[in-house]
Amino acid sequence: MAKIGFVGLGNMGAPMGRNLLEAGHELRVYDIAPAAIEALGERGATRATPETVAQDVDAVITMLPAGEDVQQVLTGTAGLFALASPDTLFVDCSTIDVDTARSLAEQATRAGVDLVDAPVSGGIVKASDGTLTFMVGGTQEQVQRARPILEAMGAVIIHAGKAGSGQAAKTCNNMMLAVSMIAVAEAFAMAQKLGLDPQTLLEICTNATSRCWVMTDCHPVPGLIETAPANGDYEPGFASQLMLKDLRLSQNAARSADCWTPMGARATELYEEFVESGGSNLDFSAIIRLIEKSQLGE
Ligand code: NAD
Repeated sequence: MAKIGFVGLGNMGAPMGRNLLEAGHELRVYDIAPAAIEALGERGATRATPETVAQDVDAVITMLPAGEDVQQVLTGTAGLFALASPDTLFVDCSTIDVDTARSLAEQATRAGVDLVDAPVSGGIVKASDGTLTFMVGGTQEQVQRARPILEAMGAVIIHAGKAGSGQAAKTCNNMMLAVSMIAVAEAFAMAQKLGLDPQTLLEICTNATSRCWVMTDCHPVPGLIETAPANGDYEPGFASQLMLKDLRLSQNAARSADCWTPMGARATELYEEFVESGGSNLDFSAIIRLIEKSQLGE
């Protein structure tokens, strides 16, 4: 069992930390929110500060909102790279941009520590169940080191490639997810106007070539898939503001790699419009409301 420092105990980090404790790992925890430290402290984690969270540990996990937060926590003279023992393994599970992930890996190497980028797919439910999917960027050896720790929090761990590749995979996945959500939403909204029964269309599509995860698990039309957020008044699930954040990261990656992503760009615009019009905290499948409203000419 490993000694692990954990920074960022929010919606995702808290259940991930609980699973590490349940697997028998020793945990030191820090968050800028004292209540978040307390909640894991009560479950047996050691309450730490920014100065002590990376002290005397084998690995440090970060699960923070954005690239700037990870940069701020890990780098600089007061950052955790400088405070940790040589060879400490850093595992950043936050979703951040590919360029920052690559730069952090270089800074880690210069500081004499290891860093893998290991963003997740699965959301709060899978974080709680310990069944997340991890996509990991780093060397073979670094990923092997991270694997036993990640196994306490996830069901699927895939080595995506060199440093930054985990974030690259995550950004491609979420860009496809947003585009497929919009595609299903606009087609089902059109189908309704064409007089089709949505249940019948779903049956046709799931036995035809448009079948996809959005269709089978997260359908934007209420009443079709029992467990879909659409049936719970679009309570997330995966909030639209988080999808917008991820889409913006995908467009940064596209610019940086000089790629044309017309559908990704349009999806970003549509989620911007939806978030600005009050959809931030609704599940990302609620984008169908924007589409239906526009079809009514409002
Ligand atoms: P969150 O906002 O609930 O949690 C972030 C935590 O980090 C908070 O507790 C906050 O207090 C803490 N924090 C912020 N700055 C800090 C600092 N400088 N030092 C210490 N603690 C600090 O976010 P979340 O939903 O847990 O998401 C975390 C990451 O996981 C994000 O990058 C997100 O995109 C990604 N992600 C989220 C989901 C999801 O469904 N929520 C799914 C997949 C990936």
